[in-house]
Amino acid sequence: QAKTLGRARYEFFDVELRERMQRRLRMEQDLRDALQNEELWTAYQPVVDIESGEMVAVEALLRWKHPAHGTISPAEFIPLAEESDLINLIGKYVLRTTTREIARRREQLGIDLNLKVNLSARQLDDPQLVAGVQDALKTTGLPPHALTLEVTESALMRDQAAAAEVLTSLRDLGVTLAIDDFGTGYSSLAQLQRLPLDTLKIDRTFVTGIAESRDAAAIVKSIIAMAHAVDLIVVAEGVEDEEQLAVLRELRCDQAQGFHLGRPAPPDELFGAVE
Ligand code: C2E
Ligand code: MG
Ligand code: MG
Ligand code: MG
Repeated sequence: QAKTLGRARYEFFDVELRERMQRRLRMEQDLRDALQNEELWTAYQPVVDIESGEMVAVEALLRWKHPAHGTISPAEFIPLAEESDLINLIGKYVLRTTTREIARRREQLGIDLNLKVNLSARQLDDPQLVAGVQDALKTTGLPPHALTLEVTESALMRDQAAAAEVLTSLRDLGVTLAIDDFGTGYSSLAQLQRLPLDTLKIDRTFVTGIAESRDAAAIVKSIIAMAHAVDLIVVAEGVEDEEQLAVLRELRCDQAQGFHLGRPAPPDELFGAVE
C-alpha cells in the first residue's frame, strides 16, 4: 500500500516537473522568436534632477508583447534569458536600438539627455561586451558621456575582480557606470570604492517608507552620505509621491525616478512624435 502511494506521488511530481520544464523551454523558444518578430520594445522612464526638476536622463526598460500571453514583465523574462546565451543577444539588441533612439531624440530636442541601460550579470562575462558598446556608440553617434550602464549590486559582488576589470574597460570608453538596486546586496563601502562607479541607485524598497518612518529616512540618509563621501551621484528609485520627494530633497539626494515623476512610456509618448 505504502509503496504504491509512494510511486503515485513520485509520478505526480515527475509530471509536474516535466510540465514546468516544457513551459520554460517553450517560453525560451518564444523569446528567441520575439527578437526576430519585433515583439520586444523599450519603454523609457524619466530620471529627474531633484533641485531643478528637469529630466536629465531616461532609463531604458525592456518590454515583451507576447502574441498569446500579452505583456510579460522583464522581471520574468530577463531571468529566463539569463539561463542561456539569449541574454547576450537581447543585451546587444537593447544597446543597439536604445542608443539609436536616444541619439536621435537628443538631436531632435537639442538637449543633453543621458541614457541608462541595464546590463545583466551574464553580460559582464561576455568577452564581446566592450566592443559591442563601443560599436553602438560609434554607429549611432551617441557621445559616450551620454550613456550610463547600470549593473546590479548582486552582479558586481559575484566576482569582484572580474567585474572591476570589465567596468574599467567600459569606463575607458567614456561611458558612466551605475550600481543598481543598491542596498539589496551586501557590499561594503570598501568594496564599492574599488569599482570605477559614478552613480548609485538606492533600491525602491528603501524609498517606500521614508515619508512615514524616521528609521527608513535615517537609512536612506546614511546611504546618501556614504555615496557622496566617495563622490557618487545618488538616484532614488521608486518615488511614488510628493512627500517622498520632499524628504529626498531634504536629504540632498541628487536625482529621482518613479511613478510620481513619470512612468515608463513609449518614446513617442515621452518625447513627442519625431517629425
Ligand atoms: P530596474 O533596473 O531596477 O528598473 C526599475 C524598475 O522599477 C522598473 O521595473 C520600473 O518600471 C520600476 N519602477 C519605476 N518607478 C517605480 C515606482 O515608482 N514604483 C514601482 N513600484 N516600480 C517602479 P521593470 O520595467 O518591470 O523592470 C524590472 C527589472 O528588469 C529592472 O529593474 C531591470 O533589472 C530588468 N530590466 C529591464 N529592462 C532590462 C534590459 O534591457 N536589460 C536587462 N539586463 N535587464 C532589464
Ligand atoms: Mg536599472
Ligand atoms: Mg533598480
Ligand atoms: Mg529594481
